[in-house]
Amino acid sequence: MNNRYSAFANRFLRPSGTKQLMDDLSEVANGAEAIVNLGGGNPGHISAAHELFRHRIQSLLEDRSIDDVLRRYDDPQGHLPFRKALAAQLSSRYGWRVTADNIALTAGSQTSFFMLFNAFAGLYDNGTQKKIMLPLAPEYIGYTDVGLTDDMLSSKPGAIEYTGEHAYKYRLDFDASDITDDVGLVCVSRPTNPTGNVITDQELSHLLDVTNQAQVPLIIDGAYGLPFPHIVFSEATPMFQEHAILCLSLSKLGLPGLRTGIVIADAEIAAMLSSLNAIFSLANNSLGAQIVESLLASGEVFKLSENVIKPFYAEKSVQARQWISESFSGIDYYVHESEGAIFLWLWFPGLPIDDMTLYRRLKSRGVLVLPGQYFFPSRDTKNAHQQECIRLSYAQEPAEVKRGIEIIADEVRRAQEERTR
Ligand code: PLP
Repeated sequence: MNNRYSAFANRFLRPSGTKQLMDDLSEVANGAEAIVNLGGGNPGHISAAHELFRHRIQSLLEDRSIDDVLRRYDDPQGHLPFRKALAAQLSSRYGWRVTADNIALTAGSQTSFFMLFNAFAGLYDNGTQKKIMLPLAPEYIGYTDVGLTDDMLSSKPGAIEYTGEHAYKYRLDFDASDITDDVGLVCVSRPTNPTGNVITDQELSHLLDVTNQAQVPLIIDGAYGLPFPHIVFSEATPMFQEHAILCLSLSKLGLPGLRTGIVIADAEIAAMLSSLNAIFSLANNSLGAQIVESLLASGEVFKLSENVIKPFYAEKSVQARQWISESFSGIDYYVHESEGAIFLWLWFPGLPIDDMTLYRRLKSRGVLVLPGQYFFPSRDTKNAHQQECIRLSYAQEPAEVKRGIEIIADEVRRAQEERTR
């Protein structure tokens, strides 16, 4: 306990997977030693996307619309022309009944979750206490520590389905009875970070149905997904309903530094987020929205996502799995089906060391991954499987990814030999 600060600050000073991840990232960025970074969620460098954004910045400078970004606070609900352009695209492409009033911008999806989780869970004015339900664990590490009350998250482990000699997939095993009276919000990432799972249209329809019946909002975290940046390799349709809250972001389009989150929800929720933005920060930085607005209005963002971003990662995923199958021969392992996002999720059944030890040993050999247990957030689901998995990102340079995979194979083999000695 630290008595210098309030309980509020101490909550965020506790050890956490998210901090570990961000510390690892800055160690890579600032350290003198070359580290094979398969750890963080940084997107890969896609020059076509990067050039497009640079070009847009150039135009903002030339036509002087940059002056507005620099000189005034934006609307706390987010840049209006961006919200209008997005609403128009979502209505015309998918027939969704959304206007600019249904959209709020935040300082990144992580901030969206902080606001939304604490708005729908924790202590209510009538004295009831609610929690967030994650219907398919493992789930995104970033959800774990955003609650302002303890034990805010509950989760349901996915059912394991073997899909190949070294492949498997978590299936949704969740129904109406899992939404107890104390559930204030259900949240699922699609694609799922860390596994690369993309819940099927059928699974998502089921989640939409049961949450609708229970009158509980459903967050669909599309940070990697639909309709953009479309890092989805399986068949999947973008879906939205009145009780859904679709969270998108500009980060995986290639603009993580601009911290722009997008929330599409009913107008009351969007207005609530606007109030929170006003209190927390008056308004958000609007540069990301200004850069992307005209690319949205012209439909360019959708083309870029489908024709450039998706194939970039799809190719990397195939390549990384090829390297895994070459390097891992003789190892007892499974890789989760790679249906989207930028990660592979490796499972080593019966691994004699736990995932934290493997993480540390790999780090000492200059390879960063993430230990799997961070992605099983609620306390009610602990089992051995959670300590037999690691996540690796394949977004970085191919030579680095290949080298990292070889070192992982070597280290896992060593650990398995220790058992037989
Ligand atoms: N959701 C998922 C599933 C993520 O993996 C990430 C970042 O890695 C985020 C949301 C957060 O994205 P942002 O950069 O918009 O905060």
